[in-house]
Amino acid sequence: MSMFCFQCEQTAGGKACTKMGVCGKTPEVSNKQDELTCALVGLARAAKDKSSAEADRLMMEGLFATVTNVNFDGNRIDALKARVEAEKNRLGGAENLRLKDLWTGDEDIVSLRSTLLLGLRGMAAYAWHAYTLGKQNEKVTKWFYKGMRALGEERTVEEWLDLLMEFGMINLECMALLDEANTSAYGHPVPVKVSTIVEKGPFIVVSGHDLHDLKMLLEQTRDKGVNIYTHGEMLPAHGYPELKKYSHLKGNFGTAWQNQQKEFQNVPGAFLFTTNCLMPPKDTYSDRVFTTAVVGYPGLVHIETKEDGTKDFTPVIEKALELGGYKEDQVFTGINGGTELMTGFARNNVLGVADKVIDAVKSGAIRHFFLVGGCDGAKPGRNYYTEFVKLAPKDTVILTLACGKFRFNDLDLGTIGGLPRIMDMGQCNDAYSAIQVALALSRAFDCDVNELPLTLVLSWYEQKAVCILLTLLALGLKNIYIGPSVPAFFSSNVLKVLVDKFGLTPISTPEADLKAILGE
Ligand code: SF4
Repeated sequence: MSMFCFQCEQTAGGKACTKMGVCGKTPEVSNKQDELTCALVGLARAAKDKSSAEADRLMMEGLFATVTNVNFDGNRIDALKARVEAEKNRLGGAENLRLKDLWTGDEDIVSLRSTLLLGLRGMAAYAWHAYTLGKQNEKVTKWFYKGMRALGEERTVEEWLDLLMEFGMINLECMALLDEANTSAYGHPVPVKVSTIVEKGPFIVVSGHDLHDLKMLLEQTRDKGVNIYTHGEMLPAHGYPELKKYSHLKGNFGTAWQNQQKEFQNVPGAFLFTTNCLMPPKDTYSDRVFTTAVVGYPGLVHIETKEDGTKDFTPVIEKALELGGYKEDQVFTGINGGTELMTGFARNNVLGVADKVIDAVKSGAIRHFFLVGGCDGAKPGRNYYTEFVKLAPKDTVILTLACGKFRFNDLDLGTIGGLPRIMDMGQCNDAYSAIQVALALSRAFDCDVNELPLTLVLSWYEQKAVCILLTLLALGLKNIYIGPSVPAFFSSNVLKVLVDKFGLTPISTPEADLKAILGE
């Protein structure tokens, strides 16, 4: 059976996975995800003048389920598609997009259409997290329908580019919605040091991005003698006052997500995946991995959402108690040997010391800011980001976000004027925080954001990076560095437009890029 998927950075040969996904996705599941996508276009068509709460939910859930490393379970994809078809018919019915029209056609149009679809998949993840906290934005919700219908419509290259910029601004609204949902539920993050030591006794490791799932689990494990550790993109949870108040939220387990198959082996604790990035589990630990929400993998126990939106994590808790944890405290380190990770430098915090930042820039103590952020991945070329941060001169500050920071977040780079030289702003969606800081600084310095001493050095892996990149371009940010490779779904002509119009720059070497940025 063949397949076609080129949606993530690790796609086979830098072109497309056509026989088997490098991520472990089978052709069968990949084709089912394509069918689901085409059915969602049908739903968007049927819901043109009369959407419904169920259609809204399905649009987010269906798109999110097709994000890389989220759902490998063909039965769950089939079940989602059946719900999409039923709702589409209830709304009056419409034709689905033809499968052959999803990834084929004129190379540039396929590239632009795919960029929109992949951006929509990324935005669906953010909208979903806000939705689980009871927040929706009508403009954002409506745009899912508009964007999905657009996949079946004819447009010129110029019109596609305009639509992508419109989408970028909508995604900014979606990130603002999630920022509001998270901060209103859990407070504004504060800087915290997070330990990488796992204490003796039963424990659960929570991976993914869903703070709502983490909060429910923290409540259900209160006084049960089970400690909770974050993993990957869940690390920034430690900064939120309403989450950090739980004394059994102890620390962070593991380094980068792509090391899970090695780091989870024979660990005497349970693992809960709330979103991506799940890798096919090995036999040495698959009996202790649980999924929830849109995540799925054949054979793993899935924690369902009840009618009232709550979940019963008893199976996860019982597994942690059965495994018993380590007999003694275990000292783990980050990839550079550190045992403490700093997080919690979200917009409120950074803007709270804006005067200090502005003075430090004016006095020359801070020469430049780098936002080194984005996803991590398995390719050796990603070492670029560790080296870049290590080589950045001492009078520069590194802002970071998303999981790419596991390449360097255990480094101690010291301080400038009382400010740490590395500041972790949070998860990938906290790009919103970084944008707010950049806009506030541009106002303070009375200059265009592109005139700030700030350079974005991004690493991408999956589709949330696509929607964030489109937002940054729509906001007019120029000269962004991107790596470790250029997306396979950018045709050469589309890439040329992005390079010419926005100065999008593929990374080269840390030395050469630092030299070019700092004009040395
Ligand atoms: Fe390949 Fe990435 Fe698609 Fe997985 S998600 S099949 S690795 S392109």
